[in-house]
Amino acid sequence: MDLVLFGPPGAGKGTQAERLVERLQIPQISTGDLMRAERKSGSELGQKFDSYMSKGQLVPDELVIDLFAKRLGQPDAAKGAIFDGFPRTQAQAEALDGLLEKMGRTLHKVVVIDVPTDHIVDRITGRRMDPATGQVYHIRYNPPPPDVRVEQRADDTEEVVRKRDESYRRDTEPVLPYYEAKGLVARVDGLGSLEEVTERIKAAIGA
Ligand code: ADP
Ligand code: AMP
Repeated sequence: MDLVLFGPPGAGKGTQAERLVERLQIPQISTGDLMRAERKSGSELGQKFDSYMSKGQLVPDELVIDLFAKRLGQPDAAKGAIFDGFPRTQAQAEALDGLLEKMGRTLHKVVVIDVPTDHIVDRITGRRMDPATGQVYHIRYNPPPPDVRVEQRADDTEEVVRKRDESYRRDTEPVLPYYEAKGLVARVDGLGSLEEVTERIKAAIGA
């Protein structure tokens, strides 16, 4: 099954993708995680990613599509994957269709996690990440265990979050009609406990 988790930054895509991996037995592919790993390696490409990420701007399509295509081609994604944070533009959506088609696959659903804007800043500024595993926490809603050393993402400041939200409204949300026309969109309410949201997604995808 190939599934897109869609929604504004901070909606809970990464959190829910992690929870669905076990249930669906397919990997999560997060372009944000892939870019952070590349950045951590100190490569030139990683520095290029960072020049966009640190400003809350989208990384150019050619770079993202190339990165994504390499990951999708790995053996663990042969039976499907959960796409978290990809696609974010129309060009990426079309590239995804092309890549899947070549593999004889089509998207099962695009699940939009709806979270009102006034909750986003609170979710993102409270977000913490375990740099060793990529596990996502929230200081109040999903606190890390005391022995786990967590960090705040460099782009999780109020100023950058506003920019990321803007780019979501401008570049990413307009992709939805493309998927609506294909009958693939399912909307779920992203407010509530982690478990409640997972149950809604499972119901929406028939899992
Ligand atoms: P995204 O991948 O869409 O940017 P995340 O999954 O990283 O979002 O979630 C953003 C923040 O909100 C994280 O700190 C996460 O722990 C928290 N969060 C996710 N889902 C919920 C929820 N249902 N209720 C409260 N906080 C949540
Ligand atoms: P995320 O981890 O999904 O919040 O993404 C963090 C940042 O990585 C974004 O603000 C963008 O700068 C960049 N990024 C991640 N995925 C994409 C994508 N599909 N297209 C363009 N930029 C992306």
